[in-house]
Order: sequence, then C-alpha cells, then structure tokens
Amino acid sequence: MKHIGKLLSKWYGLSNVSTVPLDGYNSANYKVQEGKSTYVLKVYPRNEDTLELLLSENRILSRLTSLKTYDFPAVLPNLQGDALTLTKRHILRLLTFLEGDFLGSVSHPPELLKSFGTFLGSVDRELEGLRDATLAAREYPWDLQHMDRSKRYLANIPDPSDRSLVDYFIMQFEQRVFPKRAKLRKGIIHNDANVWNVLTSNDRITGLIDFGDMCYTWIICELAVGLAYLMMDKDDPLEICREVISSYHQVEPLKKTELELLYYLIAGRLCISVCNSAYAKIKSPESEYITISEKGAWKLLRKMLSISPMEASNAFMKAAGYSLTPTAPPQDDIKRRNRFLSTSFSLSYQAPIRMKQAAFQYMYDTEGHTFLDAYNNIMLAGHCHPKIVRAGQKMMSRLNTNTRYLYDELADYSEKLLARFPHPLTKVFFVNSGSAASDLALRLATGHTKRDRIMVLEHGYHGHTMAAIDASHYKYNHKGGRKRHIIQLPLPKVFRSGFPDAFSAANHYSEITLKNLERNAGKIAAFIAEPIVGCGGQVPLAPGYLKNIYPEIRRSGGLCISDEVQVGFGRLGDHFWGFEMHGIVPDLVVIGKPMGNGHPIGAVVTTDAIAKSFEEGPEFFSSFGGNPVSCAIGKAVLEVIEEEKLQEHARKTGNHLIKGLKELQQKVRQIADIRGSGLFLGVELEDEDGRPATHLAAKIKNGLRAKHILIGTDGPADNVLKIKPPLSFTIENSVNLTTSMMELFTDS
Ligand code: PMP
Repeated sequence: MKHIGKLLSKWYGLSNVSTVPLDGYNSANYKVQEGKSTYVLKVYPRNEDTLELLLSENRILSRLTSLKTYDFPAVLPNLQGDALTLTKRHILRLLTFLEGDFLGSVSHPPELLKSFGTFLGSVDRELEGLRDATLAAREYPWDLQHMDRSKRYLANIPDPSDRSLVDYFIMQFEQRVFPKRAKLRKGIIHNDANVWNVLTSNDRITGLIDFGDMCYTWIICELAVGLAYLMMDKDDPLEICREVISSYHQVEPLKKTELELLYYLIAGRLCISVCNSAYAKIKSPESEYITISEKGAWKLLRKMLSISPMEASNAFMKAAGYSLTPTAPPQDDIKRRNRFLSTSFSLSYQAPIRMKQAAFQYMYDTEGHTFLDAYNNIMLAGHCHPKIVRAGQKMMSRLNTNTRYLYDELADYSEKLLARFPHPLTKVFFVNSGSAASDLALRLATGHTKRDRIMVLEHGYHGHTMAAIDASHYKYNHKGGRKRHIIQLPLPKVFRSGFPDAFSAANHYSEITLKNLERNAGKIAAFIAEPIVGCGGQVPLAPGYLKNIYPEIRRSGGLCISDEVQVGFGRLGDHFWGFEMHGIVPDLVVIGKPMGNGHPIGAVVTTDAIAKSFEEGPEFFSSFGGNPVSCAIGKAVLEVIEEEKLQEHARKTGNHLIKGLKELQQKVRQIADIRGSGLFLGVELEDEDGRPATHLAAKIKNGLRAKHILIGTDGPADNVLKIKPPLSFTIENSVNLTTSMMELFTDS
C-alpha cells in the first residue's frame, strides 16, 4: 500500500499526514499523525468473511464504550459517515490511537496485576449475554475450543523433543478439557489480552487494543490467554495468577470447573502460539512479529511441566476464595492397601508418596507436589510420552490379539528391534516382563545345550519367576539359598576389589570364572550377567572380564546371556546395549523395562540356531507377548529414541551429571566412588573408616525425597545411591540434583 496518504485524504479528509507502519497479524496497520491528532489505520483484504467480522468487531467496540474508566479504540467514520471504507481490493478502518505503555514494557507490581484482573473481569462482564451470529459461527484456530486444530502444525516444530512437549499438553487438553466443555460458560471474549495489546499508566490498566481475535467461546479463555503471556519469564508464575484471578473473580465470578481446567487452558494457549509460530516461520520466515512471544512461550511450557497441575488448580481455587477438599492422611491409604495386598510389596521412602500424574521427568502427587524423577529407568522417553501413549491408545481401539494371527505390527516391530542387534542375533521371542524374558532365556539355553547348570554373579538379579530367582543371588541369598545347579561367581568389580587397576581385577575374576568352568566341564548351560550390575549397586563389570570369559564359556559348550533389562535402549549414552561397552556379542539378550516405556513388554533376542533348537519342543505361546498393542508401543519407543536422539542426550546429560557429582566428591568425603555410564549411575558412600555408609545413603535418599527429588539406594550394604532418570532429564535437572545433594551432605 503505497498511497496511504492519498487514501486518508480521499476517504477521511486527512491531509498532511505522516504514517508509520505498525505490527499486525490479520491486517496492515499504520500509525497516522495529523497535527496533534493520532490515529490507527487498518487495511484488510476485502472479502465477505472479513467484512462481517469487522462489522461485529465495531458493534462490540461500541458496546465497550460503556466501560467509562477504560479506553478502547473508537471507530471513526469516513467522509460518507461509514465505519468501514470499501475500496476495490481492501477494507479500510480508521481508529483512535490509545496512549499508554504496553503491559509488556513495564514491570508488574501486585497493584497492576490486580488492576489487570479487574479489567479483564469488567470486559467479560460487559460482554456477557451479548450475542453475535458472526462470532458464534467463527471457527478460529486461536480459539481454545478448537485448539486441536493446531495439531496440524506440530510437524513444523523442528525439534522432536519440543514437538513431544506440545503434543503432551495437547493430549492432556483433549482428555481433560474437552470432556468438560459442556460445563464451561460461553460468551464473547477479546481472546488476545496479551501484554502487547494491553495498555497501562501508573500501575493501572487503561485500555485494550486489537479486537481481531474475538470469538464466542469459553469465557475462562480470556483469563487463560491473559495469564499465559503474563506468566512468561516470571520466577513464580502462580503468584502472578493468584493476584489476577482474585481480582477478576470479584468482578466476574468464576466457576470451580473453570479454575480446575485453567492450567490446561493456559498451556493450550501456549501450544497454539508455538504451533502457529512454527508454521509462520515456514510461511513467512522474514516476519519477526508473528513469532514475538515464541521464546517466552517455550520457556513457560517447559516450566509448566515442573508445576504440578494440582498445585496450580489449588492455587487458582484459593485465589477465588474456594475452599479445597482436604485429602485423607497417607496412613489411611496404607491401611487400605495392606487390607488387600501382602506387605511383601514394599513402599519407597520413610514418607510414602501418593502419586497422581506424571509428565516426562516429573511426577505429581495428590497433594500438589512436583517430584523430579531421577530414578525410573523404565520411563526411558519420559512419563506419559504422547507419541507412545497415542500409539497404544490407537492400536488398542483397533485390534488386540495374539501371535496366532497375522498382523503387520508384529513383523514391523520385530524388524525394527532386531535391526538394533548385531549378527548373529536375528530372532526374537516376545513376553511381558523382564522376569519372563530371563526365565525364557534360561529355558532356551538349557534346551539348546541340554545341560542345566547356570553361572551367575553375586548380587545379580534377573527376575521373580522360580528359574529367575534361582539365578538371582540378590534374592536367594536372603531366602532359599543357592540351588545345586547354580554356580555362583564373585562380582568382577573394580572399586574396592583390592586390585590396582581394571585390568588386573578383570584377570583375577576371569581366572575364578574359568576355574569354575573347568570344575563343571561339560555341564554349564549358560552364564548370565548384567553389563552393569544394578541391584549390586550399579557396578560395571571390570572391563575385559566378559571378553576373557565369553569365548571360554562357548568353547565349553555353554551360552552367554546378557541381561539388558536395566541398561538397554540407549541409557548408557556411549552404547545402545550394555554388552557393546564390553566389546562382546551374547548368544541371548534379555530385555524389558524401558522397552515399552512403562507398558509391560519384554523379550529374548537370540540366534537362529538357538531358536531352531527350541522349535524341537512344544509350541511357544504367550497370550500377551507380541500382541499388536505392545508391538505398536515398542515401535513407538524405538522411534522416539531415534527422533529425539535420546542416546546422545543420555551421553551429554550423563557426562554433565558425572562432572557435577565429581565436583561434589571433592567436597564430600563420604562419596567413595562414582560409576556407571550415561544416565545409569551409582554413587557409593562410605564412612571415614571405609565402611559402607548405609544410614547416610538412606538419609540422602529420604532427604532428596523431602526436596521432591526421587532416587533410590541399592547394593549389598544398601549404601549406593542409584540415579537412572527418564532420558528427558535435562542439564538443569542434573544441576538441581547435585545442588540438593550438596545441601543434604552439608547438613549431615
Ligand atoms: N533383570 C534385571 C536386571 C532387573 O533389574 C529386573 C527388574 N528389576 C528384571 C530382570 C525383572 O524384570 P521385571 O520386573 O520386568 O519382571
């Protein structure tokens, strides 16, 4: 539009004007100066829909003039007396220019926040009950009622982890907000009270501009949108909300359901914003205005994960003066649980946690606390990862059957999974747990070799079935004792082995193993071990040990089993499987836990020859092993690992964490050893006399729990802190963990 001056003169009789372009989303905007008067000229493309919307907008603006204490743009008629000027290709609209500072350019003291709440409440109250057919019919992507329409832009978000974050909140919105939509009051709202549309003066809200996003929607969205932008870059976003909600509620009372859903509506708005920014960047990469709030939106979305939805809705309810329903004491829950369950199911921590929800590396309890999960290695891709959840939901709603039928998911997943294994590991048997996989691996080995003796490591754990317990010193050592077919070998550790280096430790333990092999010549069916012994206290097998013994076991006719249930699927950072760190290839690999990111799925991967021997026996059938739902989930897990580069992330974050722990070790005498790889780490604690510091380990674990960080302890003396978080764990999270540990060590 080159002839703005001419147009203004022709249609509005303004002469000697100076014009400056202003940012705009749906229109080209100009600040117009004529002498002492300032106006805003908006130029829209001419079409029927825009025309109707502008007529509605003008009606609403004239209605708002009754709110005398605030300023809204007034529509100035053209020389013919018309509010809208229609040219051949455009619609022109001249508005008064509102003076004041944008809410985005000033600080936000409580009185300004209160004024913002009162203001938004007043606008919504004024518009309540107003009906407008055009706005009612408008299907606008920025209207939270249609937030799922932004899903189509998800693919435009370049970083797959960012995409998952947005998809997580979209999924929550679909499951929590949509089912309650009938309970949400509807009305016409401004729908874009972001900090660059709201004007202030002297810590008071004075006015609002840009009514182009108006729609007839859930009234609570007004507050959700206003808060979403105000919360950005705030240390305590909930505090901001409290001030705004309480003053809004005094003018325009909010319903409990509206406040309950507000957290997800705020997140929903941020999702719409980042999705549209991603799309806009592709469509018009040069436009900065469209993506003005993108950085802040991303930051707040990530921060919202660390704010429990319960904490938020409790804070919102309280701000509106609603009382909260008190939760029953945890003892009641424990009593109830023990009525139905044996107490052999243990509970973690001195103060057990009642969990309600979880998201990526965070878990939320029923009281509204957020826990940083530094312990659950099962949730490899993060709790409730949307791609994995959706894969399961979709498949479950289509088909769930068993391996006696043909369905693509089984072969698709098998192919993808086996591509992760080296030659000659080419066959997979699906089951539903690590225990079932260990059990089956032992059965495959004994069947193939026609022998029954199993070599196991001290402190090893391989599962809870009879055969797996027999092979788990960690369990049989406490009760039942060692069975005769079990050959128990010392744990080939380096730390506290008494050997000066890994090489001599490996040789020493290899010799013992080989002696046992000799003693049981011709009788050993298999050797089973984890590459890093988890229950033994995160102990990496001495490098060289497996390389020394694997060929000898095979030479004697035995098979080698690697239990990758804890360490597999990229957690180790440098390696996808634990056996790779030892430079060997097993005959049988046992996998589980992270394989389904929480969905119960396990497997044994083995060679053609071993599978062939098994075929001589009866049919293998597991009702659930390899069902289409599990396969769809397992495949989604592998895809997420690849897309989000989780192995590389584990390597980088793990290295950072190890560095932080080593710095801590410089200051804390009791930290005797830090070991592991990637995000599978152990921190061994000892007292001044070199004895296991079991009490201290428990104290640190429970102390961290009190600081809302979850870790575990293990090892023969229970003096090793176990750290194995979901791989969505960030460097910031690792700093939080080491800082909190430092505080606890200093206190003890
Ligand atoms: N092997 C190892 C190394 C394990 O840590 C576990 C479980 N802690 C299992 C096998 C058994 O897996 P599940 O609990 O899924 O049966």
